[in-house]
Amino acid sequence: FNVPTPTNEPVLSYAPGSKEREELKAALAAARAKEIDVPMYIGGERVTTDNKKPMSPPHDHQHILGHYNEGGSEHVAAAIDAAMAAKSAWADLGWEHRASIFLKAAELLAGPYRAKINAATMLGQSKNAFQAEIDAACEFIDFLRFNVQYMTEIYAQQPNSAPGIWNRVEQRPLEGFVFALTPFNFTAIAGNLPTSAAMMGNTIVWKPSNTQIYSANVLMEVFQEAGVPDGVINLVYVSGPTAGDVIFNHADFGGIHFTGSTGVFQHIWKTIGENIYKYKSYPRIVGETGGKDFIMVHKSSDAKEVATAISRGAFEYQGQKCSAASRAYIPSNLWDDVKDYVVADLATFKMGPTEDFGNFINAVIDEKSFDNIAAYIDGAKASPDVEVIAGGNYDKSKGYFVEPTVLLTKDPKYTTMCEEIFGPVITIYVYDENEFEATMELLDSTSPYALTGSIFGRDRYAVEQATKTLQNAAGNFYINDKPTGAVVGQQPFGGARGSGTNDKAGSMINLLRWVSPRTIKETF
Ligand code: GLU
Repeated sequence: FNVPTPTNEPVLSYAPGSKEREELKAALAAARAKEIDVPMYIGGERVTTDNKKPMSPPHDHQHILGHYNEGGSEHVAAAIDAAMAAKSAWADLGWEHRASIFLKAAELLAGPYRAKINAATMLGQSKNAFQAEIDAACEFIDFLRFNVQYMTEIYAQQPNSAPGIWNRVEQRPLEGFVFALTPFNFTAIAGNLPTSAAMMGNTIVWKPSNTQIYSANVLMEVFQEAGVPDGVINLVYVSGPTAGDVIFNHADFGGIHFTGSTGVFQHIWKTIGENIYKYKSYPRIVGETGGKDFIMVHKSSDAKEVATAISRGAFEYQGQKCSAASRAYIPSNLWDDVKDYVVADLATFKMGPTEDFGNFINAVIDEKSFDNIAAYIDGAKASPDVEVIAGGNYDKSKGYFVEPTVLLTKDPKYTTMCEEIFGPVITIYVYDENEFEATMELLDSTSPYALTGSIFGRDRYAVEQATKTLQNAAGNFYINDKPTGAVVGQQPFGGARGSGTNDKAGSMINLLRWVSPRTIKETF
C-alpha cells in the first residue's frame, strides 16, 4: 500500500495582521517570559545534571532563555545502552507504523508546533521569521514527508526471480546504533539527521550543537508526542570530545550522520579509521561539511539579477548557510552596475533582533564565530589588495552583529576567496570579460570545497560551457539563481570534495545509507 504523495509545505507569509504572525508573536513573548530547564532524553527519561549551562539569544546575549543540563561520558554510555535496548522492537515494528509516527510529527510541526519551533529558532539561533519558517517548519516537514515516501519506495524494490526460485531483498537497519551529530544553522537538519536514520529502523544517539539546544528541545517534544518510542532517539548534551571518546570506541557503533565543519568531520573519519578493528561492521560515514560557494557571472548576464543573487545568496541568515555565496567572479563590463545595485540593495537591509520583523539581518551565532569573522574583516581592511565596498563594521556589545560586508580583491587567491568564513562576508573578483574559461578554471582550483555554485548568463553556449567546466565544483549547481535555498523533493542537497560525502539530504540515496540489505534466495 501507499503513503500520501507529498507536496512541499506552503511557506506562510507572516504579513502584518496575519493569524500566523500573531501566533508567532505570542510564542516569542511566551518564550522570552519564562526561563526553561532543558533536560537530556535518555531511554525516554528526562535527565538533569548539576551542570546547568545558560542559553541566550545571539542578538541579546545578556538575556537568559533558560539552561540546559550538560552531561558527561556516563550519559553518552547510557544513551548507547538505551538505543541498543530499543533496537530490536523498533526494527521489527512494521514500516507503516514508523511512517505513521513521522507523518504525525510533520502534522504537529505544520499545525500546533509551528509557532513554537519557529520562535525557538528565532530566539536560539537568531533567524528572522522568514528564515525560521523555511527551515524549522517547511524544510523539516518536507524532510519527514518526502523521506517517508522514499522509504516506501526502497522497501518496494525487489529483485527478479526465475522459475523455481524466489529472490527477495530485506532492508535491515544497520547492526548497532547511529550517531547523529547536528549543526546550529538549520533546525531542519538537526531534525533530519536523527529521524532519517531512525525511519529506516535504526536507533539513535543524537548530539546537537550546543547553540541549537533551545530548538532541539522542541523537536524532541514533537518526536515524543508523535509517538517515537522510548530509546529510539536519545538526546544528549556533552562536549564533542566526550561524545567521541565513548561512541567511536564502542563495538556497536554502526554509523554517523553528520553536518558540521570539514575539520571536525576529517578528525572523526580518522578516529573511526584508528578504531576500525573494534567494530562489528564498517561504520557508515555520512557527512555534509563546509563550502566556499561561488557565483560565476558571464558577460551576457543581467546585472540586477546578479546583484540580487549576491545580496540574498550571501547574506540571508548572516551567511551562515553551508550554501551561502561567499565569492563572486564578475566580468569587467558588468561590475559598475552590479556594484551600484548591490550597494543600493544592502542599504535597505535592516539589522537587529529577530523579534522586530523588519530586520533582515540578525546576529551571528556566538562570540567565537563573531571574533573569527571580525578577524577576516580586519585582515581585509589591512590588505593592500582589498577594498571594502559595503559594510565592514561589527559590534558585540549587545548581540553578535556583523554588517553584511562586500570585499573587492585584486588577488583571486586572497584568503577570503579560498577559505570558508561562515558569516556575512562575500569577496568579489572582477575579471577581464574575455577571460571566462580561464577564470572558471581558476575558480575550480582555488578552494577545496564543492557544495553549491551559480552560473549567470543569457548566452546559452556560455551556460553550457560553465556547466561542463565546473562539473566537479558544486554538488548543487544553479543557473541564473542564487546558490542557497534547496527545496526537499526538488533539489536533493549535498556536495563532494571538502564539502562532504554527497549523500544528498532528502533523497533515496541518503536513506539507503541507513540500511544493510540482506538478499534471500529460496529454491522450490
Ligand atoms: N540546504 C540549505 C540550502 O540549500 C543549506 C544547508 C546547510 O547550510 O547545511 O540553502
